[in-house]
Amino acid sequence: MARYTGPVCRLCRREGVKLFLKGPKCFSDKCAIEKRNFAPGQHGRDRKVKAKIVGYGLQLREKQKAKRMYFAQEGQFRAYYEKASRAPGVTGELLLQQLERRLDNVAFRLGFAISRRQARQVVRHGHVEVNGRKVNIPSFQVSVGDEIRVREGSKSLPIFATAAEYSGQGHAPNWLTIDRNSLSGKVLSLPKREDIQLPVNEQLIVELYSK
Ligand code: SF4
Repeated sequence: MARYTGPVCRLCRREGVKLFLKGPKCFSDKCAIEKRNFAPGQHGRDRKVKAKIVGYGLQLREKQKAKRMYFAQEGQFRAYYEKASRAPGVTGELLLQQLERRLDNVAFRLGFAISRRQARQVVRHGHVEVNGRKVNIPSFQVSVGDEIRVREGSKSLPIFATAAEYSGQGHAPNWLTIDRNSLSGKVLSLPKREDIQLPVNEQLIVELYSK
């Protein structure tokens, strides 16, 4: 399925929660969830008063929420699940771990961009390197010990100054180190569930795919 390129605030309104896809706007009163917290479309308001979603619908919404937060495509998302289900460990946690290890997400976590969406673009446009080599694949999986940095020739771009201003001196997740001066970071360990602060019930996603 093609990547969604429409207005992203619709995605939050569809899920009924903030997915934080637009950076600073998500924290302001201009956020569409603050202003119009009902599903998009002609009958969006009506749906809000419908019965609570349960069963398959609930599992589906949870999967869509996680997929949309990370800008993963359906095929990719299922591949993450398949891999997680074959590996030893808790499937749901391993699924989230793969999402978190995406290079675009790591670029966002390191403060190279104001949102995952922008981080995806930063990677796509070849501004990021891993262990000294340019990587422009947003879904690239980082590994322990990898060094991720903004390429030397790209550091002066205004986008990184804005991102630095926005991310400020915020703390890096436990599994990453950040050097804000050199726009770089390192993977210390693989992310654990407690490192991934997301309003997602991964167990429902596992139940959906394991049917
Ligand atoms: Fe979602 Fe951010 Fe748009 Fe609010 S401003 S609806 S959190 S993308």
